[in-house]
Amino acid sequence: MTLSPPRLSGFDLRLACTPGITDVERLHRMRWHESALAAEERAFRRSVDAGILRLFRSGPVGEHGVADMKWYYRNRLIGSVPGKNIIADIYALSPERCPFCQAGTPSTLEHMFPKALFPWLAVEPGNLAPACKDCNLDRNEGNGHSSPNVYADTWISDHIWLTATSANSGDPAHLFFDIDAGCGVTPTQAELLRTHLNERKLRNRYRIRAKQSFSDLLSDIRESRRVRPMAGRILEDAVEDTLTSRLSARTADHGKNYWEAAALRVWVADFRSIDWEGLTPAVP
Ligand SMILES: [Zn+2]
Repeated sequence: MTLSPPRLSGFDLRLACTPGITDVERLHRMRWHESALAAEERAFRRSVDAGILRLFRSGPVGEHGVADMKWYYRNRLIGSVPGKNIIADIYALSPERCPFCQAGTPSTLEHMFPKALFPWLAVEPGNLAPACKDCNLDRNEGNGHSSPNVYADTWISDHIWLTATSANSGDPAHLFFDIDAGCGVTPTQAELLRTHLNERKLRNRYRIRAKQSFSDLLSDIRESRRVRPMAGRILEDAVEDTLTSRLSARTADHGKNYWEAAALRVWVADFRSIDWEGLTPAVP
């Protein structure tokens, strides 16, 4: 989930994007905002460096501040050629997978401190992350919450905080995803992760994917049984090998908190109580 931060500062971004403003009055206002913007971005970066990002509070935003920053984001970052180049660089930090859900493809920019509440951070690159549409839209304007910061919250990779449990003992494909509050994170960090899971509707999205992943697993086992007929203990051993090698591959590729790694941990732990023979009848 953590990425190397963008090298560009908010100041660099505005150096590239501001010269295209043709409305003199707006240009004048942006120059007027610059000292407040720069001060806020400096304070934000200091909080990142000191590891106290959750204590960061926004400074006062004067008249026109919110509207001007929303305008700037929409027209000079999203809607200008230099802005689009900067966005392409941010997408390139995680080209294949959205860092928030590890499932979708990045196609939008996420404000981790929402721009409605932190307008001075609307174009601070350290506050902008590549995100898939589902993650960005589901969170809307952030509902007043900041999200985990994919550049600065490096503690996220230190613990196994995403857990899955079998929601129905008769149906191993049916999993329930949650945060493991006892995994070593602080109560504040657990709350941040829980909000992240809720706001992006990840429980449901992971549940659906886990169902599909289990069905793919059964197809693979069925195919193996077609090539080499297996039953009883031999089948169980083959399933255990498949599950453990898949778990280590997914963990190595996507991290301990990848949704499929969490699902595979449950199936590895429960594999002796699952009726693999009944679930994957040998193909004649
Ligand atoms: Zn996503």
